[in-house]
Amino acid sequence: MIFFDLDHTLLDLESADRDALAQFRTMSPLGEKLAWEPFYEAWEAIRIDCFQRYLDGELTYDGQRAERMRCIHKEAGIDLSEDDAFAEFMRYHAILRESWRLFPETWIALTLLGNRPLGLITNGNARQQRDKLKKLEIEGKFPFILTAEEAGCAKPDPQIFLMACERVGEKPEDCFYVGDHFASDIAPAEALGMKTVWVDRKRQSFPEGSRAVRVNNLISAACAVLDWE
Ligand SMILES: [Mg+2]
Repeated sequence: MIFFDLDHTLLDLESADRDALAQFRTMSPLGEKLAWEPFYEAWEAIRIDCFQRYLDGELTYDGQRAERMRCIHKEAGIDLSEDDAFAEFMRYHAILRESWRLFPETWIALTLLGNRPLGLITNGNARQQRDKLKKLEIEGKFPFILTAEEAGCAKPDPQIFLMACERVGEKPEDCFYVGDHFASDIAPAEALGMKTVWVDRKRQSFPEGSRAVRVNNLISAACAVLDWE
């Protein structure tokens, strides 16, 4: 089984989020209070912090959504109730959903893998991640999906990778993992003996001792998988 990560690996969430935020900001009081750069910088820090608090069980999925909006408004000196923050988040999310896009080479890379069984192991919320696959019309490519919500643990916990291998009835060493985040995707999968392909679009430094194949796009990732077979 060839397992993939979804966000920032198959789905260009960074570009989608930037576009959606730019639109949302101009439609909200935030546009007058915060210039684009400080707004985006603060949003990113808040997003990462709140999502980690969700993965740690401190916030519910919807709770972290409201909290992200509450915090960015606080940054602009605006107090929002939890209900108003959640409503604002959903306004932004409606724009984001229309902005979701695959990387330009995603479809061709998946096509290169032919009829090989493909799976997803993703830290997102089950409903949200399945909605992305449906909206992007790639759900048919992934007969197997395991989300952190369903697994009860999140990457980089090796348990979620082991659970996925067990559920498809394969040993880790017979499976691939393709992902963009070294610490969350590659390090734990590699430690379990999975064959790993790191899609490093940002050309980060390569951690010492790793035997992962590093590529900077998904077509090269698909070729690496085919070469390995
Ligand atoms: Mg990712």
